[in-house]
Amino acid sequence: MTVNQSVPMNSINFKTTENQQMITEMIKDFCEKHIKPKMMEWDESQEFPVEVFKKLGELGLMGVLVPTEYGGSGFGYFEYITVITEISKVCGSIGLSVAAHNSLCTGHILQFGTEEQKKKYLPKLATAEWIGAWGLTEPNTGSDAFRMMTVGEKDGDYYIINGAKSWITHGKTGDVAVVMVRTGELLDSNGITGFIIERGTPGFTAGRKENKLGMRASETTEMIFENCRVHKDQIIGGEEGLGKGFKQAMKVLEGGRISIASLSLGIAKGAYDASVKYAKEREQFGKPIGDFQAIAFKLADMATQIEAAELLTYEAADLKMNKLPLNKVSAMAKYYASEVAVRCATEAVQIFGGYGYTKDYPVEKFYRDSKLCTIGEGTSEIQKIVISREILKGN
Ligand SMILES: Cc1cc2nc3c(=O)[nH]c(=O)nc-3n(C[C@H](O)[C@H](O)[C@H](O)COP(=O)(O)OP(=O)(O)OC[C@H]3O[C@@H](n4cnc5c(N)ncnc54)[C@H](O)[C@@H]3O)c2cc1C
Repeated sequence: MTVNQSVPMNSINFKTTENQQMITEMIKDFCEKHIKPKMMEWDESQEFPVEVFKKLGELGLMGVLVPTEYGGSGFGYFEYITVITEISKVCGSIGLSVAAHNSLCTGHILQFGTEEQKKKYLPKLATAEWIGAWGLTEPNTGSDAFRMMTVGEKDGDYYIINGAKSWITHGKTGDVAVVMVRTGELLDSNGITGFIIERGTPGFTAGRKENKLGMRASETTEMIFENCRVHKDQIIGGEEGLGKGFKQAMKVLEGGRISIASLSLGIAKGAYDASVKYAKEREQFGKPIGDFQAIAFKLADMATQIEAAELLTYEAADLKMNKLPLNKVSAMAKYYASEVAVRCATEAVQIFGGYGYTKDYPVEKFYRDSKLCTIGEGTSEIQKIVISREILKGN
């Protein structure tokens, strides 16, 4: 794909760029051909359709933010929002997996890897030759990830890793994982290190696959480490990265919140678009249900909330592109957009009435998929902690 390089901007530009228009058209066409015909089948059987991601890789959508010198598309966050939103308007599962691949595993190596690590892994990830996973969460430590129990003990030039990560997107199919491991004392702020661990490394296996409410075509599994020997060269950032894993992970999640806000926007827009169409078509009492104020006002609320969520998401992207502090705004965008996704999907089911409660229409899937958005990459409650801390610090 030939792209125009994304330029950091000084203020939010409300016009869609040429790149964004091109991406939108390309994804619409891709979804019609490769996602829509099969997505309910994948949802039903919880199949993770690897071939779809390989095709998205060919289009440059698995390395959206990766510079062209490492085989990526070299886009910025505005284009990234468009990619995730447009895919998620059709299928949240594919949107979630594309988001996790781009911004977690790939994003972590891109932001904190050594030059050798970037050259080795980014071209494979950006083209989807390899699928990436990212492991922070553990069975007993989700919101409180800092207390993780997966440990890495030094043994000469190696670290022996033992423990388990849970809820990992692509935890089984992922060819490479970035994994946060405790290499110091519990609660030591410099006691966690990020390692790049390749599939096939002895002692690294996949555990249970989760049977989920929604996002069912996005693979979620445990990753298990039993005396897994990993060379110190696999520490993200090299030896200088020792002990910096938690701080790196928090930075990665700052950008990741823009991903989940975009995923949320896509789901909200998908539910809204379907609702507007249905409100015009479905007749009761001799007129379209959109003529009833009760239904029309739902559409007004949905549209207003989507616009507000989109503005917050673009504000976070604008800060990111200009390398400005974005902790508060990215948490606001993730918190608000995810709650809007749940509200819009819920209202969409209501607008569809009984038909909304069936699998014949898309809104029941939006309803199930939307709930992940208020949980993954930091729950709404945790976002409010982040926002309020920043407010009280005077930011
Ligand atoms: C589909 C899916 C994909 C995922 N993919 C990944 C992945 O690829 N990599 C990865 O590392 N993780 C992944 N996760 C994990 C996800 O990030 C965690 O589920 C999330 O951070 C919440 O952790 P938890 O589930 O342990 O909930 P808990 O932390 O146990 O929280 C339970 C409830 O308590 C609330 N709570 C917790 N602490 C506080 C507090 N201090 N104040 C107020 N309320 C609080 C929470 O908000 C929540 O409502 C994924 C999860 C899902 C469902």
